Amino acid sequence: MKRVFINLLFVLIGTTIAWGQCRVIAHRGYWDTPGAAENSRASLQNALRLNVYGSEIDIWLTTDGHLMVNHDEDYKGVVLQQATYEECKELTLSNGEKMPQLQDLLQMMKETESKTKLIIEIKRHKTKRQNEEAARVTLKAVDEYGVADKVEYISFSLDACLELIKCNPKARVAYLSGNRTPAQLFVERLTGIDYSLKAIDKNPHWIDEAHGLHMDVNVWIVDKVEDMRRLKAAGVDFLTTNKPLEAIEVCKAH
Ligand code: MG
Repeated sequence: MKRVFINLLFVLIGTTIAWGQCRVIAHRGYWDTPGAAENSRASLQNALRLNVYGSEIDIWLTTDGHLMVNHDEDYKGVVLQQATYEECKELTLSNGEKMPQLQDLLQMMKETESKTKLIIEIKRHKTKRQNEEAARVTLKAVDEYGVADKVEYISFSLDACLELIKCNPKARVAYLSGNRTPAQLFVERLTGIDYSLKAIDKNPHWIDEAHGLHMDVNVWIVDKVEDMRRLKAAGVDFLTTNKPLEAIEVCKAH
């Protein structure tokens, strides 16, 4: 009886570890469905319904302090970081939605009961001043909506990352560029690395180095099931993917 109990305990622990090891972040939301588009309200709604760990979005700061949600710097001829809100507000996504502002998605986060977090990527703007300003404006908006515990941050701009941490030492912030070691980022108080598959394949020892420093390891963009499986086996914490359904299956598998 005792042995059965112990075996059961090991199975439970094993299950917990396996589930804890690998979680899914939908890249630009779960957009690959009818009626959705990348970085749209619909793709966030889809991700919230899936209850994945996170739904990633990209944001740009306009010249008059608005945060537009879009991946490309130049959308239909409008360079978002050089435009005013007036010039951006009528831009239409491929699913017919108007381009959201960050606030539109924060409102959804405020209303939802889903556990899914919003992973906000502050795009790398042209100047240090813009990157730092984008970080401050983003934090202010998140605070205004009272959703700080439902949000994490990522950026290719180290200036944006450092400003986020300076203004909110509790924020979870991961760096995207792949050109610094976990130890270098730990010293700067970042909480994770969020690196490309190529960067991680080149430096697989960074996974253990990050974990040794209690930092998260997120890898992008992981769309092939074989890559998902080997990263899970390597102990990666998060898979950022355009294929969240496939990643959910891989993460669930024992
Ligand atoms: Mg992004």
